[in-house]
Amino acid sequence: MNIFKKITNLARRKSPWILHYDCSSCNGCDIEILACLTPLYDVERFGAVNVGNPLHADVLLVTGSVNLRNADVLKELYRQMPDPKAVVAVGACALSGGVFHDAYNVLGGVDKIIPVDVYVPGCPATPESVLDGVIMALDKFGHGSNQGENA
Ligand code: SF4
Repeated sequence: MNIFKKITNLARRKSPWILHYDCSSCNGCDIEILACLTPLYDVERFGAVNVGNPLHADVLLVTGSVNLRNADVLKELYRQMPDPKAVVAVGACALSGGVFHDAYNVLGGVDKIIPVDVYVPGCPATPESVLDGVIMALDKFGHGSNQGENA
């Protein structure tokens, strides 16, 4: 890994830029993710930045189940994120379809469409578990090794 990649991966670990996409959740998990930004959890103290553009994102947080209407959007968001990138599926719906699993248009969890690095269970997932999931996802950007180079 060249010095530029080492520096950018260090920046990703120290200040991950995070994109959140709600596939089709009930908003329960989305509210818990928003709670991470409040002074109580204050995710920004870890350097995390909430972004709205996939071209700027290192980590994709996905809530809700994947269905026929949002599958292509999810795939496109993932495609537009630069490598290396990490995906965190948040909540039972994002893991497996959850309570919507048997709905006529639901395809299932996020990993039916894009690769998932970390699965955060719960209905809803708690802010603490979301923070844990993001921190685990940052391992993908290495510890000064070659991790994340070809992700
Ligand atoms: S896991 Fe539960 S809280 Fe989260 S989106 Fe699904 S139904 Fe809502």
